[in-house]
Amino acid sequence: MLKIENLVSHYGSIEALHGISLQVGKGEMVALIGANGAGKTTLLNSISGTVTARGSIEFAGKEILREKAASIARMGLLQVPEGRHVFPGLTVEENLLVGTVAGKGLRLRPGDNSKELEMVYETFPRLKERRQQLAWSMSGGEQQMLAIGRALMGQPKLLMLDEPSMGLAPIVVEELFEKIVEINQSGVPILMVEQNARLALKVSNRAYILERGRITAEGASADLLQDPKVLEAYLGKMVSGKKDSSKREEKR
Ligand code: ATP
Repeated sequence: MLKIENLVSHYGSIEALHGISLQVGKGEMVALIGANGAGKTTLLNSISGTVTARGSIEFAGKEILREKAASIARMGLLQVPEGRHVFPGLTVEENLLVGTVAGKGLRLRPGDNSKELEMVYETFPRLKERRQQLAWSMSGGEQQMLAIGRALMGQPKLLMLDEPSMGLAPIVVEELFEKIVEINQSGVPILMVEQNARLALKVSNRAYILERGRITAEGASADLLQDPKVLEAYLGKMVSGKKDSSKREEKR
């Protein structure tokens, strides 16, 4: 569905990505992990058309690098931004309807979009219960569900999630990730940026590791979960004898 080749992204004269190649296949869930500042958000924003880039981005067989952000969204390549960015003063349902505007053009008459709304409410029953509530009064987890639901309103052909677990309690993250897996299993390919590397590797099929604007490792997520370098750098496990504090304890 998505094939990126040799992507170089810029903020003015600053180069933030230095030649990224990455693919997401039909039905796949692909994770993108890396430290703060590695360039994960820049990559998603480059794909969405909001950061200047050169190279090639093919989506469903079409080159989209020079397309405007709005037309990329209308093609069904939809991004849920880091920090959710729901509209605080709109109700849950109004926030969802905004997603239809982004994806399909202006269709905001009452009663329209009921099919899309029902589909989102089926995935997130809590949003249905709270559909008249103002978004600011929702919990962080509910706001994240709302941000994902808003993207689903545009009927994505590929969904990009930027740090969905950010700032959420572990139990909420668990519930949210069950929903993300459900959405993927319904046939929507997902490219997910996530700081929680262990969780991202558990739920995804494949993963890429980004360091300072370059892909430094890629492969099946199950393999990366066992890779000593990945374990040490991203999963908090010290694998060398020197650094392993539990081994030091044993020696003492
Ligand atoms: P985080 O996990 O903290 O969100 P990230 O991996 O998503 O980090 P980016 O936000 O993509 O990283 O940043 C990549 C690099 O680009 C960093 O060096 C950052 O300082 C720089 N950068 C990001 N946004 C801008 C901007 N608007 N103008 C200039 N430089 C930027």
